[in-house]
This record gives sequence, C-alpha cells and structure tokens, in this order.
Amino acid sequence: MNPEMIGLKRRFICDEMLNRLARWLRAAGYDTEQVAHGVNDRDLMAHAVASDRLILTRDHKFLERRGSASQVFLVISGAIDEQAHELTAPLGINWLKAPFSRCLMDNAPLRPAIKAEIDDLPWPSQSLTGPFTTCPDCGRHYWTGSHTLRMRDKLEAWTRGQFERVSI
Ligand SMILES: [Zn+2]
Repeated sequence: MNPEMIGLKRRFICDEMLNRLARWLRAAGYDTEQVAHGVNDRDLMAHAVASDRLILTRDHKFLERRGSASQVFLVISGAIDEQAHELTAPLGINWLKAPFSRCLMDNAPLRPAIKAEIDDLPWPSQSLTGPFTTCPDCGRHYWTGSHTLRMRDKLEAWTRGQFERVSI
C-alpha cells in the first residue's frame, strides 16, 4: 500500500461489510458509494479506477489482486469507532469536512428544504432552528434533531482523536 497515493483519494467505495462506515463518511461529507449487491471484484476494481475512488474493504483477497495497492484500503476492525480510528491518519480524514451535506442512505448531495417540506415535517421537528435539507434522489428530509446532534458529537470526538466506543 502506498500511503501517498491512497492519501490523495477523497472519494470512496465501501464493501458490503462496511455499510455503517459508509454512512459515517457521508455524515462527514465524503462522497462514499456502497458496493451494489452482486458486483464482482473485477468490475468493482474497474469502477474504482474509472471514478478515482478508494475501495474500503475488510476482505483480504482484494490486496492480492495485481494493481490493487493504490486502489484498496483494508479495514481490520468490525467496530465503527475503531474503523474511524484506522482511517483517520492514513487517509487524512476530516470528520467535520462538510457535516450532513450528503444523504446518509444514498450519498446524494442534499439541497436546502423548501418551506412546504419543512411545514410537512412532524411536530416538533419543524419548530427546530434548522438547517433543514432534502435529498433530491430519495426525498428524505434531514434536520438538526437529537439523533443528528448525537452524530455530530461523535464526529467532533473523532476529530479530537477520541475513538473510544460511544454509543449513539
Ligand atoms: Zn437520499
């Protein structure tokens, strides 16, 4: 693995064992795809090269493929806080890059919600100060509720280098 090469990549693809990590990278603002079910390794590698993405995987066999060294980052831990720790220094991850700017479910950049969408939110969410955002792809709405605030606390803890397990 060449740290200089992988350090340049700022877009990611997570394998199916890293779906939770993918959502946290999106929460931090990173363009992070998830591997579609059934895609074979060769096609995945080709897509990663074509889209200049780093594959994050827990599967050792990726590293055995020729030419994979600059294309693959192996994640060892199964725990989310430890995974975040593993990524942070080698990949230069900034967990507060652009918090909550992407849909956690499908990676689309969020847009500001319009008033009618905010008015439709369940009370008391609509009474919060915002920002309110909407995913243009799946239509989900996001707001700064307690869950988002707890996620933000974790992103801030990771930014401070605190990776002990904190449940949210
Ligand atoms: Zn979405």
